[in-house]
Amino acid sequence: MRIDLHTHSYYSDGQLSPKALVQRAIEHEVDVLALTDHDTVLGVSEAQEAAKGTSLTLVPGIEFSCSWNHKTIHMVGLNVDTSHAELLEVIDELKLKRELRAKLIIQNLSKYGVPGVEEGMSSQVRGVPGRLHFARYLVERGYASTPGQAFKRFMAKGKPGYVPTEWLSIAEAVRVIQAAGGISVIAHPRRYDLTFKRLAMLVKEFTDCGGDGLEVATSAQGREDQKLLSSLAKQFDLYASIGSDFHGPCAYNELGKAKFLVDVDKVFTGLTFSH
Ligand code: AMP
Ligand code: MN
Ligand code: MN
Ligand code: MN
Repeated sequence: MRIDLHTHSYYSDGQLSPKALVQRAIEHEVDVLALTDHDTVLGVSEAQEAAKGTSLTLVPGIEFSCSWNHKTIHMVGLNVDTSHAELLEVIDELKLKRELRAKLIIQNLSKYGVPGVEEGMSSQVRGVPGRLHFARYLVERGYASTPGQAFKRFMAKGKPGYVPTEWLSIAEAVRVIQAAGGISVIAHPRRYDLTFKRLAMLVKEFTDCGGDGLEVATSAQGREDQKLLSSLAKQFDLYASIGSDFHGPCAYNELGKAKFLVDVDKVFTGLTFSH
């Protein structure tokens, strides 16, 4: 069974509509797909609609932005009830934060001399604004040749387009995901530039909050990283999850691409728990 529990649509910083995402997932023989846009569930109903009557099972999800010891950590919520009142309240708060941050980024980049940033953003953003939208605009205007380079030069911590933001705490994110009936998973744990010791501290705090799983398999991550994450999951009795973090068609990522390369103890498949 091909499972992909971490993907984005154009309601956050992905490039495809939920419908196109579902169609592409089916073309790539994905059986279970979670839509997990950043801090929003706006695309879920369209994705569910597109999955109806097909071979694909759509898991409603979200990727929450969290703050932990001055770092931004992402937590995926899977199988959430997208009409849950508390979940929607938190989503509203995060939307305001993202919009306020976007305004400040627009001011900063404009002061820096980049023209037309506000218009460049409004033509791109359908749901919540993110830094990748700014990065794409900077590429479009020739300030960088790739979004990665735009991040390095403009959007990363300490650069002109970076505005520090206090997101959810780990405890708040776990609580609201579970209140909405969902499973909480720390996304791409190797992408936070944490030493192993600090990563273990994060995972311990997450486990103490009642957290459920770790994304052991994500794209562009080798066997060694998976081994380490699989053993961390085992140590803290967490489920292993799998997700491509697909943002749109590109050379280095694809829906359903992430695979377990190592043995895992307990797996969350998006539908069931297997031991
Ligand atoms: P935000 O949540 O708005 O702060 O933006 C975070 C998002 O930016 C991530 O989910 C990635 O999609 C994207 N991102 C972060 N770093 C990079 C990078 N170096 N290159 C391309 N995209 C990036
Ligand atoms: Mn993203
Ligand atoms: Mn992420
Ligand atoms: Mn993601």
